[in-house]
Amino acid sequence: MVEQQNKYSIPLQSLSEGVHNLEFTITKEFIELQNIENMLNVEITAKIIFTKRAQVHTLELNMNGKVEVPCDRCLEPVSIAIKNSQECIVKIASENDEFTDTENVILIESHEKEIDITHLLYENILLALPLKKVHAQGKCNTAMTAYIGEAHKIKQETIDPRWDLLRNINSN
Ligand SMILES: [Zn+2]
Repeated sequence: MVEQQNKYSIPLQSLSEGVHNLEFTITKEFIELQNIENMLNVEITAKIIFTKRAQVHTLELNMNGKVEVPCDRCLEPVSIAIKNSQECIVKIASENDEFTDTENVILIESHEKEIDITHLLYENILLALPLKKVHAQGKCNTAMTAYIGEAHKIKQETIDPRWDLLRNINSN
């Protein structure tokens, strides 16, 4: 039987107890794999210090790299630096688990041979993104911002007659 290998996973079973340094390269295919909207490219190195113990393992994630997204202002691609770190513990899920609701805990089944970290990486990329994703001041495509500004103005103007109509209804 051929085991399906997940690219973004920690081979728990084959690791010896102790500290392990792992490195994952997150590339463009990750966007498609996770169906991330509004992301054009990603180049991130995720370094993981994984400590395997008898019961509870610890995982320290450090991400460094960049993503390319459409600029909120001009819609042209803008490169955003990504730097994020998270520490979590990995433990076998049990029925009455006190940790279940903590976000820094990865629960695994006792029979699991590897730990899938796809979701962990995904969450950390999204967390590292700023709310406003724009080019540096003056670096936007001015033709585009002018066009978007114009389109916005036209949209507002077309809404206005309806407000007039509403106002008329109200005053009658
Ligand atoms: Zn821009």
